[in-house]
Amino acid sequence: MSDLNKKVALVTGGSRGIGAAIAKRLARDGAKVAITYTKGADAAATVVKEIESAGGKAIAIQADSTDAGAVGAAVEKTVATFGGLDVLVNNAGTAIPKKLEETTLEEMDRMMNINFRGTMIVTQAALKHMKSGGRIITIGSCVGERVMTPGLVAYSATKGAVKMFAQGLSREVGSRGITVNNVQPGPIDTELNPAAGDWAVPQKAATALDRYGLVDEVAALVAFVAGPESSYITGANLTVDGGTNA
Ligand code: NDP
Repeated sequence: MSDLNKKVALVTGGSRGIGAAIAKRLARDGAKVAITYTKGADAAATVVKEIESAGGKAIAIQADSTDAGAVGAAVEKTVATFGGLDVLVNNAGTAIPKKLEETTLEEMDRMMNINFRGTMIVTQAALKHMKSGGRIITIGSCVGERVMTPGLVAYSATKGAVKMFAQGLSREVGSRGITVNNVQPGPIDTELNPAAGDWAVPQKAATALDRYGLVDEVAALVAFVAGPESSYITGANLTVDGGTNA
């Protein structure tokens, strides 16, 4: 377990899936945790309740990552509630798997705005409050580096952008003692990418371990990167993909 006592974390898109697992894991390691969501108020409240029943502290804030005003307010509320901000996990994201020629402009904008633009605006707002020892973690994807199947052109391009965002930003905030790293999951069983169904077949086959990953397996890596023992890791792309990109 990493020691996150006295740390405050903000996890975007923390009401379910990978983000919920990250929020619960960071809380278990001692952090006070704020999560954002858009529609899933009940799911977000459940995550908060689970953290509180285990003795932790958490709040849920409705804030669409595409809305700069809402995102800024979420960061301010986190700082006002818990007294600072040490760890930002840019997790909110979506995928609309389709061949490029079938992808509408609206679908392209949606993926770009949540996955990439959202990551930039949340991080910009968070950096106003981050001090030495701060951790910025982006959730990219193994397809941000290599793409095995058709149908992921726009999505993988947004994750490639997230990768370069993290690498570039590490150069801007390193002198302040803040690290920036990109965690790249492979196929993880969530509502976005269920392990059952046609779309799962080629993804499972592409892994070396011949299985989907679990949300807790991503959360474990994020917890390490958020913790004190990762202090010399920055600008890195850390892949947790069951060997998909091997
Ligand atoms: P889910 O769809 O299961 O969960 C997404 C979470 O993000 C929910 O809490 C959702 O809550 C929230 N969310 C969605 N849109 C927004 C928004 N505009 N603003 C704020 N919150 C939002 O996704 P996963 O857990 O599977 O994925 C999480 C991240 O991991 C994404 O960035 C995804 O691209 C990445 N990833 C996932 C992989 C997988 O196989 N599952 C593989 C590689 C990367 P609400 O609906 O209330 O908004």
